[in-house]
Amino acid sequence: MSKKTAIIIGAGPAGLTAAYELLEKTDIHPIILEESDQVGGLAKTVNHHGNRMDVGPHRFFSKSDRVVEWWLRLLPLQATTPGGHTITYHGRHHELQVANPGPDPQSEDRVMLMIKRKTRIYFLRKLFDYPIRLSWDTLTKLGVIRVFRIGVSYLQSLLLPYRKEENLEQFFINRFGKELYLTFFKSYTEKVWGIPCNQISAEWGAQRVKGLSIGKALLHAVRKALSGARFTASKQVETSLIEQFMYPKYGAGQMWEETARIVRERGGELRHGCRVTGLKTDGMRIVAAEAVNVATGESCQLEGDYFFSTMPIRELVAGLRGDVPKEVRRVAGGLQYRDLITVGLLVHRLNLRDERNGQRGGLVPDNWIYIQESDVKLGRLQIFNNWSSQMVADPNTVWLGLEYFCNEGDDLWETTDDELTHLAAEELCRIDVINPQDVLDSTVLRTKKTYPVYDGAYDHFDVVRKYLDQFENLFLIGRNGMHRYNNQDHSMLTAMRAVENILQGVTSKDNIWSVNAEDAYHEEK
Ligand SMILES: Cc1cc2nc3c(=O)[nH]c(=O)nc-3n(C[C@H](O)[C@H](O)[C@H](O)COP(=O)(O)OP(=O)(O)OC[C@H]3O[C@@H](n4cnc5c(N)ncnc54)[C@H](O)[C@@H]3O)c2cc1C
Repeated sequence: MSKKTAIIIGAGPAGLTAAYELLEKTDIHPIILEESDQVGGLAKTVNHHGNRMDVGPHRFFSKSDRVVEWWLRLLPLQATTPGGHTITYHGRHHELQVANPGPDPQSEDRVMLMIKRKTRIYFLRKLFDYPIRLSWDTLTKLGVIRVFRIGVSYLQSLLLPYRKEENLEQFFINRFGKELYLTFFKSYTEKVWGIPCNQISAEWGAQRVKGLSIGKALLHAVRKALSGARFTASKQVETSLIEQFMYPKYGAGQMWEETARIVRERGGELRHGCRVTGLKTDGMRIVAAEAVNVATGESCQLEGDYFFSTMPIRELVAGLRGDVPKEVRRVAGGLQYRDLITVGLLVHRLNLRDERNGQRGGLVPDNWIYIQESDVKLGRLQIFNNWSSQMVADPNTVWLGLEYFCNEGDDLWETTDDELTHLAAEELCRIDVINPQDVLDSTVLRTKKTYPVYDGAYDHFDVVRKYLDQFENLFLIGRNGMHRYNNQDHSMLTAMRAVENILQGVTSKDNIWSVNAEDAYHEEK
């Protein structure tokens, strides 16, 4: 019997995991078709003059032991404290003991770093702790008048809440009061989604910020004050406040370059510059992928036994040959996405005050900073030096990633690279993060479909899912492949489950869709 073939669309985390797992567990031959010339998809790392940049901040964290062990098999965890690490994410959820000795990051390249998370919110030209803490520092930075207004508007919300929460604005105001909503939620949320909070559904908030409330913050602050050092030293506080995550020495993309290397080494195929434009069907089976060579425009067809798709569902359904129901085409065609521009900016120094020593001009400790200032378009600022020293060619410089959330084709998307660089530098100067004379170099990266949007046609997404699930040999996996806000670990788990289903002859796709169905945490909270 000839060997069976799996056609995998996309060499991002999901596609590469599928290929790896097929090679590890089956004798099915994987062929990955990737339209770009890089691997890693949204989790790739680009190299600009020796400075490395991710599309957006990519922490490696997971509640799944299986995923964490998979990562550490490919890139072993660095050696640090004697006795090994206890990896704890989000406190109670995950503990994994990793033994030393691990590789030394100074001398080894294949290594996963363990990084302490530090992120803050920039507002009123000041840095506030994230997650927001009810601390003296927060109160003094906000000032007496604003704190008073926050208190009054919170009481107002308690006494006169919106009875029916119809949108995200009302959802936030009911929980935090109007002033706190305006201070810490409105501007950043609107930058990310590009629409006013009063046009975003309240369910979205319920899904994304569940469990968060002033009541809990107050309770936490009071408990902490009452029990003092004893509570601070307790494991619960230690694990939930000192968050850490893993990160490959050469950027998120290193994980996927390593996976691609192993896939090839074990006989898997990876074809770059190959864009899938359609899937040929025979009844309820997929029989071939139609693809076009991005460079030459030449088209080709590849037959296969199994098809794994990580391409956006909107495009997949548009290219599905055969008698597809009109409603399926309509809903899939209406799925929306949010896109992202990342501007890499190399500067001599920052102009932010480092609270550890009160000095300006040094490197603040943050991995990334949420920009809540409403007078700039900038959404989030990454400081790559604080991810890995290897992300920066010259350690005496600071390598920044400025994230601009936008829609493909809008004014920002259409702005030229030079104008975007100018905008990025000008905005950072305006909000006192850098001085104009310190800019040294820049690059611009446009990434389509970074965020699948849960709005509009998505309300009827089930129609699409149910229809596509009927194709026994088609597996929708990953992030845009499932139109789901999946992180790397979720994307990998969907690929792993799809391979297992093939192995075990399971035809239902329910266990794939159940990944990340009710997880409380995502890359943003
Ligand atoms: C800003 C941002 C921050 C994030 N932060 C984190 C984080 O901190 N931690 C975390 O774990 N995850 C994070 N994620 C999520 C993570 O990037 C995704 O979960 C992961 O990349 C999804 O993998 P994927 O393989 O499903 O899709 P993708 O990464 O989108 O890869 C799909 C691949 O398919 C290719 N492709 C698409 N269409 C076609 C076609 N028609 N033909 C051929 N090839 C095609 C693309 O070029 C791409 O290479 C973040 C994402 C973003 C956008």
